[in-house]
Amino acid sequence: MKITIHRGIDQIGGCITEIATETTKIFIDLGHNLPEGGDKPAEDKNANSKSIEKLTKDCNAIFYTHYHGDHIDLYKYVPENIPQYIGEIAKQVMISKSKRLAKIPNGNITEKDVEKLETFKTFKEKDRIEIGDISVTPYFVSHSACDSYMFLIEANGKNILHTGDFREHGYLGKGLIPTLETYITKQRIDVLIIEGTMLSRLQEEVKHEKDLKTDAIELFKKYKYSFVFCSSTDIDRLASFHEASKKCGRSFLCDNYQKEVLDIFTKYAKSDLFKFDNAYFYKHNHEKQFELIKEKGFCLLIRSTKIEMIKELLKHLPQEETLLIYSMWDGYINENVKKGEHCKRESLQIWNLFKNRQKLHTSGHATPETLTKVCQLVNPRTAIIPIHSEHSADIYRLNISAEMKKKIICQNEGENNLIFSF
Ligand SMILES: [Zn+2]
Ligand SMILES: [Zn+2]
Repeated sequence: MKITIHRGIDQIGGCITEIATETTKIFIDLGHNLPEGGDKPAEDKNANSKSIEKLTKDCNAIFYTHYHGDHIDLYKYVPENIPQYIGEIAKQVMISKSKRLAKIPNGNITEKDVEKLETFKTFKEKDRIEIGDISVTPYFVSHSACDSYMFLIEANGKNILHTGDFREHGYLGKGLIPTLETYITKQRIDVLIIEGTMLSRLQEEVKHEKDLKTDAIELFKKYKYSFVFCSSTDIDRLASFHEASKKCGRSFLCDNYQKEVLDIFTKYAKSDLFKFDNAYFYKHNHEKQFELIKEKGFCLLIRSTKIEMIKELLKHLPQEETLLIYSMWDGYINENVKKGEHCKRESLQIWNLFKNRQKLHTSGHATPETLTKVCQLVNPRTAIIPIHSEHSADIYRLNISAEMKKKIICQNEGENNLIFSF
C-alpha cells in the first residue's frame, strides 16, 4: 500500500491524503489552504480544475472527514465521474451554506458547485464502503464541526487509521476511547495518520465544552443582552449557548442562515442537547419582537458581516447590561499574536464596539494528552504520520515511548509530499 500526504505535513489545513493499492486509489479530504493570516486571501495552487484533475487522475473515490473548508473546499474541481462521500448531516450543512454563498455575485461559489454537492454520496457511521480492493469504514469523532469522522482503511490485509480532526473535550468526546477500543484496536493497525493541531498551541487553555456552558450561564445571569460571536456550524458551541439561554430564560436569536443550519442539526439530533427548539430568527427593526426580547433579555448570535446591524441595536440597549462574548480563536482579534498577522479587521471592529466583553473558547482539536492516549492505544505496528500541525516534528514532544517515536514519519520528500509505502 502506498500513502501520499500531498498536504498536511508542517501545515494546518489544506489536507490531502492519498491511499493507493496496485489497482485502487482513494483520497481522504481535499482541503483548501487556510488563509496565511487575518484578511489575506487563502492562496492555493491546487484551487483549479486542471490541478485537481491531474491530482485525482485514476482516483476511484474521495472521502471527506468533515465540512471544514480546509478539508473539503477543493471538491468543486473534482471531475464528475469520481464519487465523493461525506456524512449525511455534513452534506446538508454544505448545501445550505453553499446555496447562500452562490447568491453573492462574483463570489467563490456557483450554482454548479451546489449541484455538485447534491451529487455527493453519504455514509453512516460504521458503514463499510468497498472501493475496488480498499474498504473504508467511518467512525464518529467529536470536533468543532458536526458529523465528523475518522476512517479505518483496509486493503491487502493492512490497516490504516486516519483520525481527521477530532477532540475528546467536546460533548460527545467521551466516546472516542471506547470507539477505538471496541472497533479499531481489536485488529492490528499498521499506520496511524493523526492530526496534531494543538502540538504548536501548547499554551492554549483547553476547557471542556460543558464548562463553557457553565461560564455562559454565569455571564447570562450577569448581563441581560449578550452578543455571541461564534462559528455558525460549530454544533457543540451553539448547544452550549442555546442551553445557557434556556437556563437563564433569555431569548436565543440568530439570522436566517444560522437558523437554517440549526434546523438541520435539530432534524438529525440524537439527544435533546442538539435540538435547537428555542432558536428564533432575529428580525431587525421589528418593534414588537424588540419589546419582547428587551424584556426577556437575549443571546444573539452574530457574524462579522453584521456590524451595522449590531451598531444600530446597541443604540437601543443600556451599555451596562450589554456584553460581547467572543467565542472563536483568539488570534483573529489579538494584535499581539504574531504581531497581529492573524487579525481580522471586521472581527476586531466588532470587538471594539463593546465596553463589556468576554472571551469564551476552547479548541476543536485534541490536546497533547489525548493525542498521546490515542497513539498508545492504537499502537501502530509500522508508522505514525502526523498531519494538520504547524511543525509535524512537534509530535516527538508527546509523552510516548522511544520505540513508538521511532515509528514517526514526518519528513517531506521533495515537493510538499510525504510518500510512505508498506
Ligand atoms: Zn482542519
Ligand atoms: Zn476541522
